[in-house]
Amino acid sequence: MTQRDPRDVIAAKRDGRAVDPDELRAFVLGYARGEVADYQAAAFVMAAYLNGLDHAETLALTRAMVDSGETLPLEGVSRPKIDKHSTGGVADGVTLVVAPLAASLGLAVAKLTGRGLGHTGGTLDKLESIPGFRTDLEPGAFERQVEEIGCAVIGQTVDLVPADGALYALRDATATVASIPLIAASVMSKKLAVDTDLILLDVKTGSGAFMKTRQEADALAKACASLASDWGRSTRVAVTDMSQPLGDAIGNALDVVEAVEVLRGQMRGRLRDAAVMFAGEGLSQLTDLGMGEGRAAAAAALDNGRALEAFRLMVRAQGGDPRVADDPEAVLPRAAVRRPIVAEAAGTIAAIDAEALGRASGDLGALRRKKSDPIDPAVGIVFHAKIGDAIERGQEVGQIHARTQDDAASAHAKVLATLTLVEGPVESPPLVYDWHGQVLR
Ligand code: URA
Repeated sequence: MTQRDPRDVIAAKRDGRAVDPDELRAFVLGYARGEVADYQAAAFVMAAYLNGLDHAETLALTRAMVDSGETLPLEGVSRPKIDKHSTGGVADGVTLVVAPLAASLGLAVAKLTGRGLGHTGGTLDKLESIPGFRTDLEPGAFERQVEEIGCAVIGQTVDLVPADGALYALRDATATVASIPLIAASVMSKKLAVDTDLILLDVKTGSGAFMKTRQEADALAKACASLASDWGRSTRVAVTDMSQPLGDAIGNALDVVEAVEVLRGQMRGRLRDAAVMFAGEGLSQLTDLGMGEGRAAAAAALDNGRALEAFRLMVRAQGGDPRVADDPEAVLPRAAVRRPIVAEAAGTIAAIDAEALGRASGDLGALRRKKSDPIDPAVGIVFHAKIGDAIERGQEVGQIHARTQDDAASAHAKVLATLTLVEGPVESPPLVYDWHGQVLR
């Protein structure tokens, strides 16, 4: 084949023209092989961010990302298989809970996940805060673990969707994340590379999501569902609220501590509710249980310790210290400074700028600014108040975990600035707005 010039693809997108699917494929595969330079790929994603991609281009991008590595048919896995993915939110530790929870209910969870992106944390970074935890299992080991334990969570590797791995890190560093086709292709390439019976997607909307409005979130949900149906794959897509942090912990090790609390049945609230909802959806779609029964089984597995046991097995199997399931704070890295977050005014919380909270955690060191940046797994923010809560002046509403007192002081001011306080009652937003997608039988 004659060598194609990557500049033609960049120029077409720059000028708002559709890119020929074959050209786009060659560009993406060339980037994954290192033949297209980072700066050329960065120019392309910015042009795509600004001018969009049509369905044929999104499909070609997704297909090229899937084909940039191996695919996993998971033929050796005997249980009903699910995968679950969020489009990114703040304090969104659902995967940390759902993977072992669903495994404890007899499902198999085979999940390829990502690192922190923009202002949102990533499951890989969170899991890697557990000493020894490996997220780079080779495909055979991944499949064996899913069969034996019921769940495995790993990242893109040189073998698995490497093109998404490379583009994902590039988008994070070039402010090109919040694009419907780029997110749809990125999410779905990871889901389509692994052959599961049901893909569960959580498309977030609100101040802490990449899709700030319901309209954009619905469009992203439909774009993902449409890619799944192009592949003949079953998917259920929930559009869920991200107008405030889902859980309380915004960091990496802090999210693991919180996930363990939920897995122990000790923490109630929206993070637990979301995990129960997704595990219940998987169970009811793939077994004889109805939705109510599926959710009840999921809630019971959190309360009776079975989900926690599955988490312990997953951590051990992936090389991590399994004592994290018993005493996470003793095992996980801890920040040198802990400062309480103290409300400076009274009122009812009417709104929270969750993206700004995510960025404040990032400024403490929990996220990257450049692809090569290390993150600090110990730092972050724990924020307990939610929309509709009345708070008093002087009340402790959370804690900052920082490297220095100066960092903590700066984060404290940023956190309080994210709150809109009013007088009188405010209704809490729903957890789920809508469902999309279809299950093929
Ligand atoms: N999650 C992904 O895997 N990719 C995105 O682009 C956004 C969220």
